[in-house]
Amino acid sequence: MFNSVSSRANFAKQEEETLKYWQDNDIFNESVRQREGSPRFTLFEGPPTANGRPGIHHALSRSFKDVIPRYKTMKGYYAPRIGGWDTHGLPVELEVEKQLGFTSKKQIEDYSIAKFNKKCKASVFKYLEDWDKMTVRLGYWCDLDHPYVTMENEYIESGWWTMKQLWDKGYLYQGYRVTPHCPRCGTSLSSHELAQGYSDATDPAIFVKFKACKNTLPEEILKAAGETPVYFMAWTTTPWTIPSNVALAVSASDDYAAVKSDNEIIILAKERVTAVGLDPDCIAVTVKGSELTECRYEPIYNPHDFGIDRKKMTGDPSQSTPVLVLEPVDHELTYPVISTDYVTMDDGTGIVHTAPAFGEDDFASGRKYSLNFIQHVDLQGIITGSYPFAGKFVKTADPEIIEDLKQRGALYKSGSITHTYPFCWRCKTPLLYYAKQSWYIRTTAVKDKLVSGNKKINWVPEHIKEGRFGDWLENNVDWAVSRERYWGTPLPVWQCTTCGKQTCIGSIDELKNEEGVEGITEPLDLHRPYVDDITFKCHSCGGQMKRVKEVIDCWFDSGNMQIAQYHYPFNESSKTIFNDGRYPADFICEAVDQTRGWFYSLHALSTLLFGEPCFKNVICLGHILDEKGEKMSKSRGNVVDVMTVLNKYGADATRWYLFTSGPPGNARRFSEQLVADVTRQFMLILWNVYSFFITYANIDNFDPTKTEFVAPTAELDKWLVSETHNLVKVVTEELDTYDITSAARAIESFVVDDLSNWYVRRSRRRFWKSENDNDKISAYFALYNCLVTVSKLLAPFMPFLADELYRNLVISVDPNAKKSVHLTDFPVCDESLIDESIEKRIRLAIKLSSLGRAARSAAGVKVRQPMATAYIKLASSAEADTIPYIKDQLMEELNIKDVTLITDETAYQSENYIQSVDGPYTIFVDKNISQDLLDEGIVREIVHRMQNIRKAAGLEIADHIKLYCYGDEYIAKVYKDFADYIRHETLADELYGDNVPEGVTPESYNLDGHVVNIAVVKV
Ligand SMILES: [Zn+2]
Ligand SMILES: [Zn+2]
Repeated sequence: MFNSVSSRANFAKQEEETLKYWQDNDIFNESVRQREGSPRFTLFEGPPTANGRPGIHHALSRSFKDVIPRYKTMKGYYAPRIGGWDTHGLPVELEVEKQLGFTSKKQIEDYSIAKFNKKCKASVFKYLEDWDKMTVRLGYWCDLDHPYVTMENEYIESGWWTMKQLWDKGYLYQGYRVTPHCPRCGTSLSSHELAQGYSDATDPAIFVKFKACKNTLPEEILKAAGETPVYFMAWTTTPWTIPSNVALAVSASDDYAAVKSDNEIIILAKERVTAVGLDPDCIAVTVKGSELTECRYEPIYNPHDFGIDRKKMTGDPSQSTPVLVLEPVDHELTYPVISTDYVTMDDGTGIVHTAPAFGEDDFASGRKYSLNFIQHVDLQGIITGSYPFAGKFVKTADPEIIEDLKQRGALYKSGSITHTYPFCWRCKTPLLYYAKQSWYIRTTAVKDKLVSGNKKINWVPEHIKEGRFGDWLENNVDWAVSRERYWGTPLPVWQCTTCGKQTCIGSIDELKNEEGVEGITEPLDLHRPYVDDITFKCHSCGGQMKRVKEVIDCWFDSGNMQIAQYHYPFNESSKTIFNDGRYPADFICEAVDQTRGWFYSLHALSTLLFGEPCFKNVICLGHILDEKGEKMSKSRGNVVDVMTVLNKYGADATRWYLFTSGPPGNARRFSEQLVADVTRQFMLILWNVYSFFITYANIDNFDPTKTEFVAPTAELDKWLVSETHNLVKVVTEELDTYDITSAARAIESFVVDDLSNWYVRRSRRRFWKSENDNDKISAYFALYNCLVTVSKLLAPFMPFLADELYRNLVISVDPNAKKSVHLTDFPVCDESLIDESIEKRIRLAIKLSSLGRAARSAAGVKVRQPMATAYIKLASSAEADTIPYIKDQLMEELNIKDVTLITDETAYQSENYIQSVDGPYTIFVDKNISQDLLDEGIVREIVHRMQNIRKAAGLEIADHIKLYCYGDEYIAKVYKDFADYIRHETLADELYGDNVPEGVTPESYNLDGHVVNIAVVKV
């Protein structure tokens, strides 16, 4: 016997019981263990940070991530899953700074790096418990007890090994360049971090005039000008960079106009004259940009007047670092006009203000033309020197600078602009592009390999491959990998304090074995400040080697998990990772923002180290929005708490919603209501089929292990078997290509449309009849096998409900069966059981039934009222041959006495017929209903009321009854005429009239003007 099943399911509560069952029986570990020795399937877990609470987007990626290894395990693979934690970096430091009320690096250093890092370390696992709770409750299977942790010595040591490899290949270098710099965090950021922090900002947009040195101007302009002063006009959205201006850039091939305006002449691109607001009729003369490149102009702010050094950029431009040479004081300084290819006519004046200290293009021009280099801003973003606006943060100083420009007669006009501007992804401070020394990984050296390796990766959705990710690789720039911070993997480069020689250390042993090593304290902690105290002897000059002060980008840590999780190459067991399936990963899965984050850092490091990608398949998930399609955020107050939803509706409903609501790459809406809909639209439908089966199987003592098997004979059963195997085939194919959404949708449509709405609905009567004939047993086997198969197909998606179904359907009749659906093999499609001709026929029956119902309802005829004939026009004569097989089904479905095929519609196009059309298919029904059919219609209404009374009285399906029914003469007549039918339908032993026993009150109904009284009494 199966355990009886309540028709009212409480999925969330049932899941808690299943969770306990899994824990008590160690099902996850067993599912992995029992496949030991089989081929491996490897998932790389992208490490989250546990110093923030898990949110719904984490549940999204964990749900998708979970499906594939569960599936592969059932397919026979050995698939251990190692969890991981990202523990370093700015996010952690920033939290601690907030806690301590710090706003600058100086406060951290005054407080002591040792104490600061201790606090960082302590805060890393602040929300570990919440994470574990969410992970377990969601049914995400992963080894939470032995995770890799990026701050552990062993993990750091693998990072050092990687750095040493890069160093030896010449891929790690120190360069002086313009990098995005956060003035609050006091550190460079990489281009992928930059990509995380763009948002809209309103900035000043000003037109600035630079006074031309007249004797350098082209003849024509000079002639037109006479005594009038001449200015070059440039446009900028960063007024604070004007003091660092050292050149103006023009486009050599474009036309430039000298325009007369209020006692001055302004030079700008001809194409921009009107846009800027000057009068094109006042153009005095036009010259090519190339004619302006001999011109010079006077600085608005001569650095020597404000106590700022002026340097000259020299050295071979192909080297990573320019040589900056101090220039003598010169109060008569002038700067050049240069021509470059980055001047556009899209905005501004066609003349570009150039400050090599603050822009990548400007910096490149500086090196190309050996321009001056002026740095008047410190690393905190504060203006230095004796400018009237010195001592202020650059962005705050802008209004004063604009005012000062105005007073100096250098401002043509000012306004503002709203554009996208990069902000620090952690602290939201506007970033500055700042020329400074940083450490880089030369990813551009392997750009071709990055691109060609990407072609081998299977991306879901596919467009990311050549789109978002491919573009990113095509535009690759070297990875700014150092951070001038505290809590991170220390950069393992030591530098001689005497001769400047640098060396990279690749392991703890290497460090300990350096000659004259000092400052090692045990137990060893590879973090700052302890590692900073370790010194050794310079190989070249015998001087002292000290570590450089930088730590490494935390995205390096997470990207290096590909080997560091195994403590490669130090751990003995890690030596085989390339041969035993642990490397590369078969599968990774995170949100789309990781294309420039973790996906990139994994791909960059594997390509640099081993020349190959380190993941074969990747699912890239879209963002989660609220119910209205808006971004979720604390400030909007629309964040959905994931634990609330899991506890209320269960993990299965949540997971299923996430799988089926849209393709993985799309943004998806999320709310409690949307999850609740899943319960109603799918889970309860499946549950009803399941509880229907259990109820009848128990009544009839059907036991699949004892009852002799009967192969399907009925058309419906053969069809169900065929469709079930078809489903196995589809789900397998979709999961093999990582299409989780299509696989889940295929299961849902099978369960709802085929299994519940056709098979079970049409088979109900076969289970109701009292004798256990072959037809009934055939139906039991077909339905039973289908449900067991569905439980296995569902297992990777809805691990809880799947197991609940399986345990009752299988274990309760076979105690020796595997203890959980997750320990079983995934179903295999038996092609010999797929019968396409039956599937085609039933599809046709389903189609015609729905078309016929539409015609009935258009005719305004009640469902229970039988009608005479349906006239059907089919799409082809081949289809006509299938009608004999499905005619009975159609007659029942449509509650109709006969089906007639027609080819010519003209005879039926009158007001006596109602038609319904779908493409080549047409159905007509005859509106006229005979008295016999009307009588039958009334009887069916009466039987329907009787069944309702039975149900309301709480009678079991098999209970026999006495039936009382009376009314007018007409009612008495039909009650008598249809007595056999009524008895059969209601399991009534005897039919009575108005002699209702005392204490029983009949229910009264009005059916087409006839009052009917009905009472039901259990025998
Ligand atoms: Zn910052
Ligand atoms: Zn030295």
